[in-house]
Amino acid sequence: MKITRYKKVQKYLKFYYNNFGFHQPYQVLIDGTFCFSAFKEHIAIREQLTKYLNGSVKLLTTRCIIKETEKIAKKTHGALTILKQFGIHDCNHKQPVSGSQCILSMVGKKNDKHYILATQDRDLQEKMRLKPGVPLLYLHNKSPTLEKPSPASYSKAGHTLEANPFMFISQTQNESLKNMKKTLGVEEKEEVSKVVIKKKKLKNPNPLSCKKKKKRPGKKQDEKKDKVIEGRVKKRKKSKHKNVLSQSSIQQ
Ligand SMILES: [Zn+2]
Repeated sequence: MKITRYKKVQKYLKFYYNNFGFHQPYQVLIDGTFCFSAFKEHIAIREQLTKYLNGSVKLLTTRCIIKETEKIAKKTHGALTILKQFGIHDCNHKQPVSGSQCILSMVGKKNDKHYILATQDRDLQEKMRLKPGVPLLYLHNKSPTLEKPSPASYSKAGHTLEANPFMFISQTQNESLKNMKKTLGVEEKEEVSKVVIKKKKLKNPNPLSCKKKKKRPGKKQDEKKDKVIEGRVKKRKKSKHKNVLSQSSIQQ
């Protein structure tokens, strides 16, 4: 899979995760048209979708969809075989309705069960785009493709299509981070700790680095300075403990 394709689908899934509570295993509601295309193009649905969505998937259909596909069984025998492998979600239609009608009622107004709809039916896709939070999946040139979230989904989520979604997220995240820091008092603590470190440096020049100076009296001043700085960085950890000891011994 191309990287851009992979990034796109992950971006869309994240959008549905953040704004509509989609999670793994993804419930993919599959109709006869999708199966028919998959059969025609020789596509292993489960394998391809797992790979494409990069997560576990639950492949589902309904009795109405199976009934509808059975009616035109001569043309769609392969599709029917594929359909029957999937889990059957109860749609509560005692009298079977058409596949698209059944799907519309399964998704309902809010798509509470977080179905990802896999269909090649353009009319059904058009109807689903009007409902926020219904991801659409279809086969395009043998490749499963998750459609970009519809304007209805974006507006429900408080996004606008024109605005860069990343900007929006980072701004809100920044604000919430600031608020969190304020309520936790994290900012103040950070400042205090910085001051303490500075004071320590001023009070305790490293005694080990001073010794080094004496060992090399013949060198130029600039070089000496460099060596001193290096010595400080290297020996800081060890010297801390010794400093404390020497301090306490001086005080005594
Ligand atoms: Zn039904």
